[in-house]
Amino acid sequence: MISFDVVVLGGGPGGERAAIQAAKAGKRVALVERENVVGGMRVNWGTIPSKTLRESASFVYGLRHNLLDAIKVEIADTITIPELMYRERRVVQRELELINKSLSRYAVEIYKGEGRFLDAHTIAVHGVDGQVRLHLKGDVIVIATGSSPSRPGDIHFDDDTVFDSTTVLRLPRMPRSMIVIGAGVIGVEYASIFAALGLAVTLVDARAQLLPFVDREIAALLRRELRLLGVAFVSSDHYAKVERLDGAPPTVRVTTRQGNVLEADVLLYCAGRDGNSRGLGLEAIGIEPDARGLLQVNDQFQTVHPHIYAVGDVVGYPALASTSMEQGRQAIRHAYGIPGPKLRTERLPFAIYAIPEVSYIGDTEEMLKEKGLPYVVGRGHYEMNPKGQIIGAPGGLVKLIFARDTLGLLGVHIIGHTASELIHTGQAFLDAGADATHIAETLYNYPTFSDMYRHAALVALRARQQGEQA
Ligand SMILES: Cc1cc2nc3c(=O)[nH]c(=O)nc-3n(C[C@H](O)[C@H](O)[C@H](O)COP(=O)(O)OP(=O)(O)OC[C@H]3O[C@@H](n4cnc5c(N)ncnc54)[C@H](O)[C@@H]3O)c2cc1C
Repeated sequence: MISFDVVVLGGGPGGERAAIQAAKAGKRVALVERENVVGGMRVNWGTIPSKTLRESASFVYGLRHNLLDAIKVEIADTITIPELMYRERRVVQRELELINKSLSRYAVEIYKGEGRFLDAHTIAVHGVDGQVRLHLKGDVIVIATGSSPSRPGDIHFDDDTVFDSTTVLRLPRMPRSMIVIGAGVIGVEYASIFAALGLAVTLVDARAQLLPFVDREIAALLRRELRLLGVAFVSSDHYAKVERLDGAPPTVRVTTRQGNVLEADVLLYCAGRDGNSRGLGLEAIGIEPDARGLLQVNDQFQTVHPHIYAVGDVVGYPALASTSMEQGRQAIRHAYGIPGPKLRTERLPFAIYAIPEVSYIGDTEEMLKEKGLPYVVGRGHYEMNPKGQIIGAPGGLVKLIFARDTLGLLGVHIIGHTASELIHTGQAFLDAGADATHIAETLYNYPTFSDMYRHAALVALRARQQGEQA
């Protein structure tokens, strides 16, 4: 039995930041990670790998569509996903080096194995053989075990024709067609990435609307762009049966409840994720996960035991790398009363790294209609923007929503090139309480996409003026 001030379960972004925050405060910290590497979903199997593949897909798509007629680009059928993600290993390696360096600089002790509660202060660390290797005692314990793709029992994930969002990065050959079940953020991102790589993609979703939480105008534009990429939609439908069809190579058939029969080289199932709480021995300490394996916590990320915190994907929404890190830091600051900056998380920016990107913060038109708040909209268009013309960016939109009476900014919604970066200008305006006049009177570099903020604000000012005159 080794005693620590803090024992952290899971070395993803939530666990890593909790461990470093505690170690910086002079605490003795143990971090338990069941995989061979730290970094979790962010570095190894989710955020960074998928974004690296997206860059390759955008590059390939750009080459195919933007080059002069005289230059032809051939993409070999034999290219594999790992080859396409040629930069991934380097990026991941660099991230892992940085994480390991900071864990070792602050003397966080890493234990490889699966952590399981024996009692509210004791963790047994199991090796791959299932045997207990050692016991760790912690005054404070942080559960940061993340989440895994849901795998329904009636689908056989053979990693040859049927994949989830983790295993898809190890596709053994480049397919020509793909069925994606689940049009959530991850499903939409992967559908657009594979369509840009030239696959015939069918996106199946139980919901009628694409990404219902996104501003409807932006979601409609995204749907149009995805169609242009070659994505076919099957909406308001659910798989009934998934079959592997043997052949060389084997393929997959999906029969839906509405009677659609879809066939493709591979199926990517990405409808939902479950919290990694099974096997943690939580029943021994009276913590009960919900049906999706998620843990309930209070505003300070405490479970029913005040000294046991849970952060990141295992507590559910918003389940982002950025928020998981901040929750890890906040949990430790709360445990030890450490002062420090508290990131504003009540209004979050969201990014969907599809091709094209979508990013937003604040209210949508639909939310304001529901609240009965009068508003005015201004739009800046990529095709009217000189930088958009220079880089040959296809269409896109910066949409700003202002309160009709005060002209205060309420929401920013962007679809187009680098939307995930451009959103932060809007976030800063929102946080500063800026109004349309302030945004319109800001001078931007020329030519930049940011200049679309000025255009959108000017349009909104004009719209309000015309509304008053009418
Ligand atoms: C395809 C994909 C794309 C994504 N893209 C983005 C994006 O663009 N932007 C963004 O912000 N977020 C993105 N995310 C989400 C982001 O990756 C997660 O929100 C984030 O990694 C969650 O961090 P975490 O620390 O809670 O958990 P994880 O990163 O899942 O880490 C948990 C760690 O705990 C370990 N573990 C689990 N159980 C045990 C145990 N019993 N004992 C010891 N160790 C254990 C796991 O091995 C893992 O290393 C994406 C996710 C996916 C799947």
